[in-house]
Amino acid sequence: MICIGCHLSTAEGYAAMGRTMKRMGGSTFAWFTRNPRGGFTRQEDPQDLEELRSFLAEEGFGPLVAHASYTMNLCSSSPKTRANGLDMLKKDMEKMEKLPDNLYNFHPGAHTGQGLETGIAMIAQALNQVLRPDMHTTVLLETMAGKGTEIGGCFEELRAIMDRVHCGDRIGVCLDTCHVWDAGYDLVNDLDGVLQHFDRVIGLERLKAVHFNDSRNDRGSRKDRHEKLGRGKIGMEAMKRIALHPALAGRPLILETPNDEEGYTGEIHTVLGWMEESGKPVF
Ligand code: FE
Ligand code: FE
Ligand code: ZN
Repeated sequence: MICIGCHLSTAEGYAAMGRTMKRMGGSTFAWFTRNPRGGFTRQEDPQDLEELRSFLAEEGFGPLVAHASYTMNLCSSSPKTRANGLDMLKKDMEKMEKLPDNLYNFHPGAHTGQGLETGIAMIAQALNQVLRPDMHTTVLLETMAGKGTEIGGCFEELRAIMDRVHCGDRIGVCLDTCHVWDAGYDLVNDLDGVLQHFDRVIGLERLKAVHFNDSRNDRGSRKDRHEKLGRGKIGMEAMKRIALHPALAGRPLILETPNDEEGYTGEIHTVLGWMEESGKPVF
């Protein structure tokens, strides 16, 4: 089973994103819960949310993958930034609960010089303040390229956060292919090895979504610059092997490649073509 989609703009509202994705040929999508840089959030219209909820059920979409603001840093050395981050997390989770059973992905954060241990403890503390066992949203830690003081550049760091979070089944991981490549994991020559490593450290059952991106830079560059499928250093053959890998089956694949609607539609159809060719069920 596969569901593929891409990042969409919230400008026309929630239901419009569902209709757009159907037109583009996909069956999942991602959006920013608020302006990715500024933190601004628009007030959602309950009718619009209801419309999307029934659309998703009718169309049989896979889980959606919302993305938190890049400005949310739960482990900043600035108490003000941390407090803002916690506030964003709380409000975003309230919003996500209005679209139950979906995924909410965030960048674990940058410890800004406080050290890994302190950063990890701060992220877990924030999550423990917000997550409750009765929530209908799964929160995902995104694998990062490991630039600067960014946490999450290796699987062990994500494991360390998860180990400290109380609501274990409300938390999972989103694997960004560009980020893990840039962090040094060899998706091209050792995909099985990378996924086995993930399974050993985190557990594949915790892997809930994939950000499906090629990378502009060499493996281990720690840069985080996404590229269109097949135009980057991971390349089309490896991207195809990732999409078809049995260990990743069933996870929503989200494209975050530098594309307009037409470009995304093309990539969605490329991936759907691989699936058809391989005889795997598509939904
Ligand atoms: Fe991200
Ligand atoms: Fe990503
Ligand atoms: Zn990225």
